Amino acid sequence: MPKLPSVVISALLPCFFSAQLLGAELTPEERHYAQANAPFTFCVDPDWAPYEIINAQGRHEGISADLLRLAAQRAGVTLKLVVTNNWDESLEASKSGKCKILSFLNQTPKRDEWLVFTDPIFVDRNVIVTREEHPFIDDLAGIRRKSLVLPSGTSIEERVRRDFPELTILTTGSEAESFAMVSGKKADMTMRSLIVAVYTIKKDGWFNLKVSGQVPGYENNLRIGVRKEDRMLRDILNKGIAEIQPPERAEIANRHVSIKVQTGIDYDLLLKIVAVFTIILLTSLFWAFRLRKLNEKLRRLSRTDSLTGLSNRGDLNERMDAEIERSQRYARPFSIIMLDIDHFKRVNDEFGHQAGDHVLKEFSMLVKAHLRTHDVVGRWGGEEFLVLCSETSAEQAAVLAERICEAVRSHGFIHGRRQTVSAGIASYQPGDEQDSLQNRADQALYAAKRAGRDRVVTF
Ligand code: GH3
Ligand code: MG
Ligand code: MG
Repeated sequence: MPKLPSVVISALLPCFFSAQLLGAELTPEERHYAQANAPFTFCVDPDWAPYEIINAQGRHEGISADLLRLAAQRAGVTLKLVVTNNWDESLEASKSGKCKILSFLNQTPKRDEWLVFTDPIFVDRNVIVTREEHPFIDDLAGIRRKSLVLPSGTSIEERVRRDFPELTILTTGSEAESFAMVSGKKADMTMRSLIVAVYTIKKDGWFNLKVSGQVPGYENNLRIGVRKEDRMLRDILNKGIAEIQPPERAEIANRHVSIKVQTGIDYDLLLKIVAVFTIILLTSLFWAFRLRKLNEKLRRLSRTDSLTGLSNRGDLNERMDAEIERSQRYARPFSIIMLDIDHFKRVNDEFGHQAGDHVLKEFSMLVKAHLRTHDVVGRWGGEEFLVLCSETSAEQAAVLAERICEAVRSHGFIHGRRQTVSAGIASYQPGDEQDSLQNRADQALYAAKRAGRDRVVTF
């Protein structure tokens, strides 16, 4: 046996299951009746597109055809088309019993004389058709000084005159003429069934016309008509109709006419509103972004020493707090190195304040260049600098400080003088606060100065 590709099988499965699941439950009597009398003859309107037609091959096609087929299939009823030339012939065939079923029609008292009707198999709304530029109409009752054109003598004309006395009603000989009057600005609007309106606008090219609104309460309930003596057939078909799901109905209608009804939403306006909000949103986002950047910059500036670009005292204080906290909690070593340029006053005195500034900058870069990745140096004030050495013992800090002293000692500063620096080191001890740690570093520095400068002292 040839194997079906799995894609085909998976495509077939839903059909199989839906056919199995969506079947009407007939009584044994109904089942017997449906089988014994099959096939059931039916007549249609051969020229009522897009609802139904009989095509050149003698096949029933259109919305009604698809719905009738589906209802019959779900009810387990076999049908047979009796071809007629026009609707009148179909009516005659129905009356004479040549066809048991009329496929798709409105229930009227006259037709009640020889037919019984199923539940609606399709509800087609009546809609307002206007020229393209006309806004959406949500209620005909609110409209004054507008003209509505209808084919004369229809049951709709009577109802509209009664329900909407403020409208000027114009009449024409045919539905096509009504469309022509609206298109040619001789009337403001006309009323049609949605399906026919959409179909006709497309087919006949009324491209300046559109569906502008619905008229609640003006629905066409289209049903299947069954000869009175075949009442059981009507009941069976009703069971089939009940099995048709709304999405299936919509899909069938869309298969024959692609429907796009204007709703209460004015998309042009919506688009403008969306555009305005988008602009506001983007502007807000832009400013929020700029503000964040500015805040970041401000924050950075507030933590930076303007001359050297190093951390300022405020930033050092914060970082030192964090390091002390860490050392307290995890018992990790932490050391600080207080650096003070030796005899810096002389630089200013001899070479001027600007040269002094320059030396401070040079010194900053020099120190930075000799630090390890995790060390932080900042300007403590004047010509004093503080290095925070995370995870560093006093001994390791001393090595680092010596390296800095050596780098400064051997550096050729801009003013051509040898420059030295003194360093005081203090390491975190349990119970230390920032003040106590700083004090020890200060004392160490003071000791280094007293001992002749250009050296490192640890406290
Ligand atoms: P010691 O070796 O004892 O530290 O002597 P010193 O001269 O370095 O110390 P002192 O405290 O006497 O003088 C520090 C000088 O640093 C005084 C001040 O004018 C100068 N100074 C502080 N801040 C700046 C600055 O931003 N720019 C310049 N050019 N000089 C500064
Ligand atoms: Mg000083
Ligand atoms: Mg100094």
